[in-house]
Amino acid sequence: MTDRVIPLADHRYAAAIPAVPAVALPANGLLADTLGRPLRDLRISVTDRCNFRCSYCMPKEVFDKNYQFLPHSSLLSFEEITRVARLFVAHGVQKIRLTGGEPLLRKNLEVLVEMLSALATPAGEPLDITLTTNASVLAKKAQSLKDAGLQRVTVSLDALDDAIFRRMNDADFPVAEVLRGIEVAERVGLGPIKVNMVVKRGTNDHEIIAMARHFKGTPIILRFIEYMDVGATNGWRMDEVLPSAQVIARLDAEFGVEPIEPNYSGEVAERWRYVDGSGEIGVISSVTQAFCRDCNRARLSTEGKLFLCLFATHGHDLRALLRGGYADAQIEAAIGEIWRGRGDRYSELRGAMAADVGNGERRVEMHYIGG
Ligand code: SAM
Ligand code: SF4
Ligand code: SF4
Repeated sequence: MTDRVIPLADHRYAAAIPAVPAVALPANGLLADTLGRPLRDLRISVTDRCNFRCSYCMPKEVFDKNYQFLPHSSLLSFEEITRVARLFVAHGVQKIRLTGGEPLLRKNLEVLVEMLSALATPAGEPLDITLTTNASVLAKKAQSLKDAGLQRVTVSLDALDDAIFRRMNDADFPVAEVLRGIEVAERVGLGPIKVNMVVKRGTNDHEIIAMARHFKGTPIILRFIEYMDVGATNGWRMDEVLPSAQVIARLDAEFGVEPIEPNYSGEVAERWRYVDGSGEIGVISSVTQAFCRDCNRARLSTEGKLFLCLFATHGHDLRALLRGGYADAQIEAAIGEIWRGRGDRYSELRGAMAADVGNGERRVEMHYIGG
């Protein structure tokens, strides 16, 4: 299949309109990419906007008042998202994660959750539907999300110390509100909740033990994420990455921890537990330990471009097909062709390449395709 690269009036990242195969073979659940990886996990960015300005994701200097976010007409509608999600599910997707930007800023998100909850796998199983949020408005929305069919939430929280947290979100947002969001989410049954902490050496690594102590003894699973070189705006430097091995060493010295088996193949977080039985933690070593070999994740941007890797420089413009009068069978076949051609394994190659890969082309930003 050859993709045509065409300029689009509102295009943000290079994207090609996917070729629609002349003979549309239906999905048979056996889809695999060039490295034999199936398609299981779809992350959908529902907005490119956010009320935080975390320096590692949407630094204020770039995402200021002059920054042009996508106009509403560019965004996939809930009907379009649900339609395309159904086609991905036919290809083997079992898990859908809503993300952004800040997904809870998308108006009436619970309506989308309800629409997606009505989908089922070809075997008739319900989908695993989850959401990653900064929790700024979670306390207010948790109940309606739960009622709409959301199963779990993952909350991002980078520090317990209020001053450090306010500095990191760069929106002067207090820790207490995030903790309240977590509490309400737990109460309405959106658990087990995971909390993601991006660790930046010298910025919040001294919060590791305090964060661990806070969630130890609760059902909440705290995960430490290595600060990644996503996008092109966060000024990433390797010396600001604290390798997960060092996070584990610090936790082990303080509490005693031991590794546990993964839940399933392709799981992003490496699982650990406290030896005293007081809970589970995880580390996500995106930089120091590539996990591309089992990567079964696809990402759909706010404006309907499909990205095959978090570090991709090119998307596949599914919105052009959705709005171009194509039948479901044709779009489903096009998605199959795209996945069959996938060979992305950026993190595995990172070490062997200069930091700026992709022939100098601009990598997609995290707030645009989600985490
Ligand atoms: N706004 C929501 C939130 O913060 O949870 C959802 C979108 S955010 C892009 C998804 C996840 O990506 C968050 O857990 C965030 O901490 C993580 N993230 C963003 N930039 C990152 C980076 N440079 N390195 C590692 N993780 C990053
Ligand atoms: Fe917003 Fe999430 Fe990015 Fe922080 S990590 S700026 S909360 S999208
Ligand atoms: Fe998947 Fe790309 Fe991350 Fe590798 S670098 S794990 S292929 S998203």
